[in-house]
Amino acid sequence: MFLPELKSLPDEDICLLVKLDNHTPHYICECGDAGLLSVKDCQNTQVIFISHTHIDHFVNFDTMLRHQIGIEKKVVICGPAGIAEQVHSKIKAYTWNLIEAGSIVYEVREIINEQEINIYELEPPKWELRKTGAISKNIIFDNERFQVNFTLLDHKIPSVAYLFKEMDTVKIDLSKSDFKGGVWVRELKTAFEQETPDNEIIIEGKSRLAKDLFHLLDIKKGNTLGVIMDHASSAENHAKIKALFSGCDKVFIESFYKLEDKTFAEANYHSYSQASGCIMRECAVKEAIPVHFSRKYDEEDLRLLIEEFERAYKGD
Ligand SMILES: [Zn+2]
Ligand SMILES: [Zn+2]
Repeated sequence: MFLPELKSLPDEDICLLVKLDNHTPHYICECGDAGLLSVKDCQNTQVIFISHTHIDHFVNFDTMLRHQIGIEKKVVICGPAGIAEQVHSKIKAYTWNLIEAGSIVYEVREIINEQEINIYELEPPKWELRKTGAISKNIIFDNERFQVNFTLLDHKIPSVAYLFKEMDTVKIDLSKSDFKGGVWVRELKTAFEQETPDNEIIIEGKSRLAKDLFHLLDIKKGNTLGVIMDHASSAENHAKIKALFSGCDKVFIESFYKLEDKTFAEANYHSYSQASGCIMRECAVKEAIPVHFSRKYDEEDLRLLIEEFERAYKGD
């Protein structure tokens, strides 16, 4: 299960920390200025997901860099076309003569389009930007617990929206049978996961077909988490959001403006309270959370903005 925590206060830029139960590495979405982000949060982060590199989403990468030097691990940075050179440029702004090789490695996964990702690496002290590979699929990151798909939204530049999808888990319910547990349980789960129903499963010396035991298995659907940052409130963007985020368990979505400032939203390729709430309702998202508000708003404005979002989300 994903356990996201907002690390930015309502009047700060955006930063979301994503943890999972029983899983050590942390993940960060967006590097906006974030008062609640700790040194430990930065050091435990394995992957940084960036939607686009407007300053309010990328300014705090320097803080990440500051705290990650010396962790002696690889950290992956995911983002839109151009981000490898931008990470490189940020790093090159500092002097590195006292930092040793191996103190950190950055791998940058740069999204060229929805099926094409280029991979680069940078390492101290020289920090040369080297292309090391490419990925030709819509999965920007995956491990044993989850995978991350994405879509590119229009914000006058591409803005990457990420979908975190936990793997489904298979559990056995032995109370539905008279069998005792044993190695066969693992073999049965494997037959199910690998779609090999005719595998032979031996229980207490007797052979059976896996498919005849599949009724003992319960499939627990993996949890889903969406992070949709800056995007124009357009039909094309909404179609892409629907295609990827429908039925999602939890989504954080940009709602930069109040409804009365809709013209600013249109001019700046941003979304606004009502439009973000509506699209979340149309996607039947179970829990939608509006985030990333214009800094011109005071507390009362933000209360109204969130109210407008909630009304549209609930369809009142
Ligand atoms: Zn932006
Ligand atoms: Zn922004």
